[in-house]
Amino acid sequence: MLFNLINPFALEIILLYTDMNDIPTYDAIIVGGGPSGSTCASILVKSGINTLLLDRANFPRVKLCGGWLSPPIWNVLGISPDEYTPRLWKFKRVHIHFHGRKYTLKADGYFVRRYEFDDFLLKRSRVQNTEHNVRQIEKDSEGYWVIDNQFRAKYLIGAGGTHCPVARSLFPKPDNLQCGTQEKEFEGDADEIAACRAGEDGEPEILLHDDMKGYSWNVPKGNWLNIGSGTLIARDVLPAWTKARKFFEDNATIPHSSIPILEKMKGHGYVFFNTDHLAQCQANNAFLIGDALGLAQPMTGEGILPAVLSAKVCATAIAEGVPEAYKERLQKHPIIKDFKNLHAIQTGSKKFFKKKGDKPYKKSWLRDRITAKVFAMMFSGKQLPGSRFIAKLIG
Ligand SMILES: Cc1cc2nc3c(=O)[nH]c(=O)nc-3n(C[C@H](O)[C@H](O)[C@H](O)COP(=O)(O)OP(=O)(O)OC[C@H]3O[C@@H](n4cnc5c(N)ncnc54)[C@H](O)[C@@H]3O)c2cc1C
Repeated sequence: MLFNLINPFALEIILLYTDMNDIPTYDAIIVGGGPSGSTCASILVKSGINTLLLDRANFPRVKLCGGWLSPPIWNVLGISPDEYTPRLWKFKRVHIHFHGRKYTLKADGYFVRRYEFDDFLLKRSRVQNTEHNVRQIEKDSEGYWVIDNQFRAKYLIGAGGTHCPVARSLFPKPDNLQCGTQEKEFEGDADEIAACRAGEDGEPEILLHDDMKGYSWNVPKGNWLNIGSGTLIARDVLPAWTKARKFFEDNATIPHSSIPILEKMKGHGYVFFNTDHLAQCQANNAFLIGDALGLAQPMTGEGILPAVLSAKVCATAIAEGVPEAYKERLQKHPIIKDFKNLHAIQTGSKKFFKKKGDKPYKKSWLRDRITAKVFAMMFSGKQLPGSRFIAKLIG
């Protein structure tokens, strides 16, 4: 009888309200447990913010990545290399091969295995986390974000990498294209590793591609080897890898004509930094961090540092009760300002070379050495001297 008195619309609202009240509600939900998600979680949890992290993968999980870290990472993470308990390989120099010459240069940085690194960061955050593939994101009548009708929160942080569902559902698509990669990290005995290595001293070997639109790498991590190629334009990656593979096989300490283990490479594109991306980092209590925002260093593709940096800036703004400050703080951060300069230099030089046309490359040993030095500096997380000035000049 009572049921008849309630009109269907009111009934629907009551049911929806009851449903919403049944849904576990958090202050913040983070989608993605990579370095950006776990760094964000660590700060939110420490600040007493009731946080849930959702990742579709069960950790530890494989993530395609060279695992190279530049030294500023420790400061951003708030730990010293000694406090990082999994395996860590430090490098002090880098061998850069470019236009047929080898340059051995001072450099500074670390290698990790992402399988271990991401798991370490996630555990360290002490966040409540659940294995869940996020598909549907809606906002309810109280202004809370509702995920797949199962979880609800005031703040939603998209840390789901290149195909982050938060970015896809709530933010415009970035208009610059994804880079291309081919990579493999495999465990082998000493002979197997040596057969794929150019170089014997355990330091990273980098092959800068002749057109400077990408590079290949070869990095030993104990009994593991990480090898691969990355190119600014995705379709260039397969021919680039074919050349790089031949280079590493021809120069290996145990020469081989064709190494079967290098057949099955895997690819995963991601978006490099573009100053325009910064404008899309937040809207309506939803935030993007790391690869979900497209922040990787515009020339080297270093993505872990900007991922944890954006996570820290975002989480700190939320924890301080000024979430709207995230965008401005991110834009003003010295590392991001440096990326802006590099992006302006890159855009300016692209225009310059377009005007110049496809003139044949004139060999210059000095120019090649300077280029290799610039890369060694960037691999070490150093800012380029005069980059602001050059950006203003040609950007
Ligand atoms: C081949 C290759 C080599 C690289 N080498 C380096 C390097 O040496 N050094 C460096 O600094 N950077 C490198 N990068 C870039 C670096 O890997 C990324 O920039 C970095 O991982 C970004 O971290 P993130 O936390 O933003 O995203 P990710 O590490 O991609 O984490 C995203 C997480 O979100 C989860 N997720 C995705 N979709 C969903 C969903 N629908 N629901 C729930 N969870 C979801 C994923 O399972 C994943 O755990 C490399 C990238 C590639 C592809």
